Amino acid sequence: MGKVTGFLEIEREDRDYQPVAERIKHWREFVLPLPEQELRAQAARCMDCGVPYCHGTSRLTGAPVGCPVNNQIPDWNDLVYRGNWDEAALNLHSTNNFPEVTGRVCPAPCEASCTLNIEENPVTIKTIECEIADRAIAQGLKPELPTRKTGKRVAVVGSGPAGMAAAQQLARAGHDVHVYERWAKAGGLLRYGIPDFKMEKVHVDRRVEQMQSEGVTFHYGVDVGVNVPADQLVKEHDAVVLAGGAEKPRDLPIPGRELKGIHFAMDFLPQQNRRVSGEPQTGAAILATGKKVVVIGGGDTGSDCIGTSIRQGAASVTNFEIMPQPPEHENKLLTWPDWPLKLRISSSHEEGVTREFAVLTQKFSGENGHVKKLHCVHVDAKFQPLPGSEFEIEADLVLLAMGFVHPLHEGMLKMLDVALDQRGNVSADTDAYVTSVPKVFAAGDMRRGQSLVVWAIREGRQCAHAVDKFLMGSTTLPR
Ligand SMILES: Cc1cc2nc3c(=O)[nH]c(=O)nc-3n(C[C@H](O)[C@H](O)[C@H](O)COP(=O)(O)OP(=O)(O)OC[C@H]3O[C@@H](n4cnc5c(N)ncnc54)[C@H](O)[C@@H]3O)c2cc1C
Ligand code: SF4
Repeated sequence: MGKVTGFLEIEREDRDYQPVAERIKHWREFVLPLPEQELRAQAARCMDCGVPYCHGTSRLTGAPVGCPVNNQIPDWNDLVYRGNWDEAALNLHSTNNFPEVTGRVCPAPCEASCTLNIEENPVTIKTIECEIADRAIAQGLKPELPTRKTGKRVAVVGSGPAGMAAAQQLARAGHDVHVYERWAKAGGLLRYGIPDFKMEKVHVDRRVEQMQSEGVTFHYGVDVGVNVPADQLVKEHDAVVLAGGAEKPRDLPIPGRELKGIHFAMDFLPQQNRRVSGEPQTGAAILATGKKVVVIGGGDTGSDCIGTSIRQGAASVTNFEIMPQPPEHENKLLTWPDWPLKLRISSSHEEGVTREFAVLTQKFSGENGHVKKLHCVHVDAKFQPLPGSEFEIEADLVLLAMGFVHPLHEGMLKMLDVALDQRGNVSADTDAYVTSVPKVFAAGDMRRGQSLVVWAIREGRQCAHAVDKFLMGSTTLPR
């Protein structure tokens, strides 16, 4: 364990951010790393609890509480405390293919379930994870080559974190892995959704290079079910993994929705990511510069629209959320070690947005075909309008960030005639990961619905385990 009395002696310290005035002038990451001595002291706070909920399993449901990839957090905290960074990196990579990614963008359910969080003082697990990964990468990412080739050919559709994790695991098991991606580069939402100021794309590029040297072949511009028939893919491979994400955005079908200036978040955010990386754009530019922006939806995607609008120089940014404002502090006795409902303030929220909760937008109105106003009302806990609370707000750009309902059904899924679950996601259990179509598997948001990067990595790894077992009869890949 860390230092026996560390948690009594050392206060929690975490990474700071560049001041708002500086960071909104650029698109780079702005988190300031902790110095080594401070980081080791933070790792010393880990108590190596008898039941480490940070990487544990719920006694009630058997589902993970804390880290979804079951990172062995107390073990690497101890290694960092002792300055054994190389051993810590080996341990971390044994459960997580892309810890430099989760160390940047994971909401850290591990910290919510840390025993020290009972006193609002959890170990800075995510920061320590990020530093272990960054130090290992600074020494050069080496390929982990398989000891033998199996001669089996596997297709992975989609190169988001689920597809990448599955592909890397399967290549390391000796299979000939081909990733088919409709976009020009790999990464899925890591590259085209999450803005550069949260995670620069060099982190994706490095992993793609590592995977290529491990034998994974990436095929870009291949939209399976559109420009390559899905059944052809099934015929040409011994197994197919569907990891296409949950791309169908939730719409707001109210009067005025057809007006110009109202866009889905995922029409807006990828444009900026492409602008930053110098990729060519398609379609008319959607820019917040000089505009009154209203972002509808209070989650991660909404927050990314806020930070992006502010950096583009919006005149004002307002954020509406239909749910009531959650409490600033959760009731620990009711929630710990589970993920609590509480007010979340992201770095983008700190950059200059007006946030309003319990707001329902009832109508858009406009001039010359372009949106000018939102007509809104406050609602009660059952989303019923509160009489007399109606109000209007001016807007020239409205960004809809209300989540994603399920994967796209047109194209690949229809062509494969794969069974869907009640929510419209691809139906497959988390044991075999196999769909209703023989030798076709599914993982990540395409199977579980809109979720998190860390869950996508977990599913990609578990799905690879299931595919390897299907192909070879047994597997040494970890679940
Ligand atoms: C704006 C935004 C910000 C987010 N921020 C965070 C965050 O900070 N932290 C966090 O943990 N999670 C975040 N998330 C959620 C997270 O990004 C997703 O849960 C995760 O990326 C899902 O991974 P995936 O591999 O299942 O799918 P995706 O990342 O969606 O990747 C799917 C890939 O499949 C490709 N594809 C789909 N269909 C086909 C086809 N037919 N042929 C070829 N290719 C196809 C797509 O082009 C895409 O590249 C965010 C999501 C969004 C939208
Ligand atoms: S992946 Fe997320 S939950 Fe797991 S240790 Fe890292 S920050 Fe915590």
